Amino acid sequence: MKAVCWWGKGEVRVVNVPDPKIINPHDAIVRVTLTAICGSDLHLYDGYVPTMMRGDILGHEFMGEVVEVGAEVKTLKVGDRVIVPFPISCGRCWFCQNKMTSLCDNTNPNAWMNEAMNGFATAGIYGYSHLYGGYSGGQAQYVRVPFADVNPFKVPNGIPDEKVLFLTDIFPTGYQAAEQCGIEPGDTVAVWGCGPVGLFAIRSAWMLGAQRVIAIDRFRERLALAASDGRTETLDYSDEDTFDELKDLTGGRGPDRCIDAVGMEAHGTFADAVLDRVKQAMKLQFDRAHVLRQAIHSCRKGGTVSIPGVYAGFIDKIPMGIAFAKGLTMKMGQTHVHNYTKPLFDRIERGDIDPSFLITHRMTLDDAPRMYQTFREKQDECVKVVMRPS
Ligand SMILES: [Zn+2]
Ligand SMILES: [Zn+2]
Repeated sequence: MKAVCWWGKGEVRVVNVPDPKIINPHDAIVRVTLTAICGSDLHLYDGYVPTMMRGDILGHEFMGEVVEVGAEVKTLKVGDRVIVPFPISCGRCWFCQNKMTSLCDNTNPNAWMNEAMNGFATAGIYGYSHLYGGYSGGQAQYVRVPFADVNPFKVPNGIPDEKVLFLTDIFPTGYQAAEQCGIEPGDTVAVWGCGPVGLFAIRSAWMLGAQRVIAIDRFRERLALAASDGRTETLDYSDEDTFDELKDLTGGRGPDRCIDAVGMEAHGTFADAVLDRVKQAMKLQFDRAHVLRQAIHSCRKGGTVSIPGVYAGFIDKIPMGIAFAKGLTMKMGQTHVHNYTKPLFDRIERGDIDPSFLITHRMTLDDAPRMYQTFREKQDECVKVVMRPS
């Protein structure tokens, strides 16, 4: 089959590889009908995530049709149409039983790597390095889906792929980011980063009852997408001082809820951002945390900072003193996608949201090398790339 493979820092290739096989009686094989490139795939592309190996198949946002099931699979059958959440859940461990599926204890066969680095391991993730289990990803014609009774979510025929694909990651990720803010009536929510997760966080903040939502970015097309709902306010951080501007917009108090939908590759224009880039280049720290600092600075006293943007490793110069003095609540982490597939699917079916609004590029797997580059450089007003197998 055809697959998009990591080939080293800044390089992906489309390669012919053997078809996946059932290797455990609880597996299913899915023929991919639509997949996407995620912002977090760029962390792999940019070489920030260790333990990638040449030839690893990328992709954790995919959906398709079940073409084969293992002998023990009870709830899926050949022909079912499914979306597959990016973190792999066993359904049985304490974390899965307590609705924290991205923290599953059982699905990362390379748990020892994580344990050696961090003292613990989290769930396996498709196409996201050997540290996260070395699973082959879904930017391919076929993919093996383990724990097939627990993970795939069946979608009915008749609803287009593009409307439901993002239930695998970015829609639940944006939604969880907004939900964990604990939005109350009258709240102003500020969202840094109008990439796909930020855009879904914005839409979700409205669904959860925000009074105002302020979107912060420097790319015109992304700000325009954020504002396309007719009610989100926008702030271009390359023109304005974000801290002062947010203060002005909120009567001097600061936004009640702040969402960092950028994460470790934040691009900033201030002194701490420059220092971060130098340190990251020298491998003194892994992350550039400019946005997180600004969110902590800007948030109103007693507010919430929610972090769906991916961080790895260590960061420094985090203003803990300010966070403490202001009594902030901070919430973060990978998305427990399985909690959201059904309720968000229902919202799509009801017409509350059409998640395909942010797709800017419709391609095939063959275009992946060029599209990774385009998406990486944010060229061609690229916000979200979806790919069909051919
Ligand atoms: Zn993703
Ligand atoms: Zn589990």
